[in-house]
Amino acid sequence: MSIQTLIGQATIPSSPFDTDSFNQVVMSTYARFPIALERGAGCRVWDTQGREYLDFVAGIATCTLGHAHPALVETVTRQIQKLHHVSNLYYIPEQGELAKWIVQHSCADRAFFCNSGAEANEAAIKLARKYAHTVLQIDKPIILTAHESFHGRTLATITATGQPKYQKNFEPLMPCFHYVPYNDIDAMEAAISELDEGDYRVAAILIEPLQGEGGVRPGDIAYFQKLRQICDETGVLLIFDEVQVGMGRSGKLWGYECLDVEPDIFTSAKGLGGGIPIGAMMCKSFCDVFQPGEHASTFGGNPFACGVALTVCQTLEQDNILQNVQERGEQLRVGLRAMLQQGAAQGAITAKYPNHITEVRGWGLINGMVLNADIALTAADVVKAAINEGLLLVPAGPKVVRFVPPLIVTEQEVEQALQVVDKAMAIVTKE
Ligand SMILES: *Cc1c(COP(=O)(O)O)cnc(C)c1O
Repeated sequence: MSIQTLIGQATIPSSPFDTDSFNQVVMSTYARFPIALERGAGCRVWDTQGREYLDFVAGIATCTLGHAHPALVETVTRQIQKLHHVSNLYYIPEQGELAKWIVQHSCADRAFFCNSGAEANEAAIKLARKYAHTVLQIDKPIILTAHESFHGRTLATITATGQPKYQKNFEPLMPCFHYVPYNDIDAMEAAISELDEGDYRVAAILIEPLQGEGGVRPGDIAYFQKLRQICDETGVLLIFDEVQVGMGRSGKLWGYECLDVEPDIFTSAKGLGGGIPIGAMMCKSFCDVFQPGEHASTFGGNPFACGVALTVCQTLEQDNILQNVQERGEQLRVGLRAMLQQGAAQGAITAKYPNHITEVRGWGLINGMVLNADIALTAADVVKAAINEGLLLVPAGPKVVRFVPPLIVTEQEVEQALQVVDKAMAIVTKE
């Protein structure tokens, strides 16, 4: 789907914000909805016209604690006054504290910090390649990824991303990436044995526990457990991209906990800093093969981003936010499913769209409403109608409407979102 069809002809009221002069000086890498947001509080944001929106996008699954959360405001203010950046030429206490929290709350032994999801995956790819060369003795290490995956926009991570639309016109891509269908164990086993030829061998599998951008597709438990078993038997590294599903969004702290499988390496970013840029790659000690000077980031692990991320982590824990994620997620899925199941009316929701919605899927507060592939209605149509009605949503591919609100979303806000979705569906299905 082209970026233009994603936005299409928006019917959103025109804003006094001067989009023309914006577009004259900002490169047009994004198709934007024609509203300009300037303020937020909790799960709500306001545009330059003062119009209020319920935010079920959260900066694309990023603003874990919503907008202007007091704990975030306090840490940001304190840390910028104290120290914000010094480089990794020196020890950074906040970096150590954050790494310690993550290690204590995950299967990992160590962390490396950077600034984004793509960078975290780059670090994981480099670590896997070095491990392959120095431990597995593979000259041409192959990394397997899944169709419909998303791993970022750098050259290595668009190569890892199993969607040609992100790679087009950027060839030549990185060598030694191969793709397999998601949740298909036979295809994975076949790839591992077929690609074992001469200097070539599979060194790692890079995969999302739940595919986010690819359409909010949860991993299959039996598939992932078998993956773990194959990796244990063959020495292939199992790398999980937790950039979108991690940091509590699944209702567990890490998406892999929903699958009862531990990765050897995993990456985090989006929700980790609650909206302040930070990325991280975690690994078990057996594959921590980096030496000083082999990988680095100037900004990575700075006191500011790490201090803020630590506050996000501690707030998740202290405020028992994971329980809210589980309960609100269930409430959202039940409400959305009521719209697709004939005769399953729930509360205020009376409209039914069994011919338009085929499935509601997800974990915790990462959910997708899947539209019927055989009709013209697109996720962008639904999203545009929802924005018109005061609810921010984002598509995950052409046919999936994604719901990724802040993890602090309330019961009443979920109820309100359901009512707006119902209204938006009523509008777009009548057209
Ligand atoms: C968003 C995303 C990325 C890329 O993160 P950036 O911070 O935009 O580089 C990588 N993997 C997954 C699963 C993502 O959702």
